[in-house]
Amino acid sequence: MQIKRLRIAGFKSFVDPVDLVIERGLTGVVGPNGCGKSNLLEALRWTMGENSAKSLRGTGMEDVIFAGTATRPPRDFAEVSILLDAPVPGGEVAEREVVRRIERGAGSAYRIDGRDVRAKDVGLLFADAATGAHSPALVSQNRIGAVIAAKPAERRAMLEDAAGIAGLHVRRRDAEQKLRATEANLLRLDELIADQD
Ligand code: ATP
Repeated sequence: MQIKRLRIAGFKSFVDPVDLVIERGLTGVVGPNGCGKSNLLEALRWTMGENSAKSLRGTGMEDVIFAGTATRPPRDFAEVSILLDAPVPGGEVAEREVVRRIERGAGSAYRIDGRDVRAKDVGLLFADAATGAHSPALVSQNRIGAVIAAKPAERRAMLEDAAGIAGLHVRRRDAEQKLRATEANLLRLDELIADQD
């Protein structure tokens, strides 16, 4: 998976729309304290589905919307788009655009390639691409210690994430649920047939 562009509008300190084009190779972001470097990582994480206000350094979900400054009024919405090359069925890689938008009082919504989708679909897309809001590849300043101190089970989850099999676990859970529901239906059917006899 390769992230090619991050487009941010109204998210935290990024009040005006901004495009961050990420070329192949190593990209560094430099700037003075408080200029918004960590907010970039949070914009990525949030669009990938992060919902924990704590890990987004806020107290409520709407805290990600530009809150205003002495010279600029607050915004009513925040929108972040990630343009990336992601794996698609058949082993191919295709360009996808994932957008998350939040409006004051109206909650947040996701789109993939312009279509409204569920948070779960976005989660699966990033899990299949071996990344995501909780990917070990995204290490914020306060998480470095947590990675080092992780318990074996947590570290296993990180390795599975890194190996790109996290999406398979979600699908397995879904399949198991469907199987249980079908088994219950079959049982009910057997009872109905027995009643007929
Ligand atoms: P450091 O190097 O100190 O970690 P940084 O470059 O990573 O700094 P960030 O922590 O990303 O900077 O940005 C912090 C800035 O973002 C602060 O000035 C803060 O006021 C601003 N900010 C955070 N949330 C919002 C918001 N909702 N609306 C407006 N500004 C915000």
